[in-house]
Amino acid sequence: MTSKFLSVALACAAMASANVMAQDYPVANKSITFVLPYAAGGPTDKAARDLAQSMSKFMGGHSIVIDNSAGASGSIGANKVAKAPADGYTLLFTHIAQATLPTFFRNLPYNVERDFEYIGLVSENPMNLIGRPSLPANNMAELLGWIQSNKGKINIANAGPGSASHLCGMLFQSTIKVDMTSVPYKGTAPAMTDLIGGQVDLMCDQTTTTIPQIEGKRVKSFAVTTPARLTAPILKDNPTMQEAGLKDFSVTIWQGLYAPKGTPAPILKKLNDALKAAVKDPDFIRKQDAGGATVITDARNDPAGHKAFVMSEVAKWAPVIRAAGVYAD
Ligand code: ASP
Repeated sequence: MTSKFLSVALACAAMASANVMAQDYPVANKSITFVLPYAAGGPTDKAARDLAQSMSKFMGGHSIVIDNSAGASGSIGANKVAKAPADGYTLLFTHIAQATLPTFFRNLPYNVERDFEYIGLVSENPMNLIGRPSLPANNMAELLGWIQSNKGKINIANAGPGSASHLCGMLFQSTIKVDMTSVPYKGTAPAMTDLIGGQVDLMCDQTTTTIPQIEGKRVKSFAVTTPARLTAPILKDNPTMQEAGLKDFSVTIWQGLYAPKGTPAPILKKLNDALKAAVKDPDFIRKQDAGGATVITDARNDPAGHKAFVMSEVAKWAPVIRAAGVYAD
């Protein structure tokens, strides 16, 4: 047998086994895992669990479990999926970090463009600047005054460099030209616990998890990060950052699903079909709406639209991150 013939035969065998694998996918006794690169109880975790529940309905009730592989701004979980078998059982659910970590990290151990299959985006999420309950400020004007008179003493929590909370907090500091001490956590759930306890002063986080804490009066809410005010009853009186005088300040993040590069197309199609059904599921929509998030139902639900959008976000945020000069190793 010539080596050319052998390599063609091997390629055919590999294709045939990928097709058999795709036909049977997902097999009854094997759960699909969404690797979630932040701590349990945070906004990304909540969105992943909502999506898992809905997608499962459209995959014959197949079990989808969450693996919180948190740390290093979300890069540990993303790297785990980049290196996982491309069989459709290990997927990554993450947010804007997919577009910001490549610039924040000097040595990211994976490549967002080459190491993933893009399955689809599911939602867009506004953010919200909140503070510890004991802060002696009750609105943005008072907060900005308090910040000016406490320069050098203020700390701000986040989920690590490049996370959504960090990006938002970094923009806040650069816009008001005040440096704060950044306190990184494995996700904003543990950061929220410390904010409520008064161990940290401020945090910028997705409204999905700030809303219940504001409603419970466990944190103070100062402003929203979207260009327009939000309609959630507890936030509708919060000014936008722009209304509060922070010119051009606008941060909206997004969340989506990824598979390791090389996952067979028929498996990706099954996952994308379930994702597209989930974003139209009234139950999923209601849950996102309650947290101030908007479900995405446009070309970004599809692999090509998803990837093109993420690449445009990499390009959009790179100069902003470089200008701030904040990096992680
Ligand atoms: N909200 C977090 C962030 O700042 C991540 C999380 O814990 O969900 O990126």
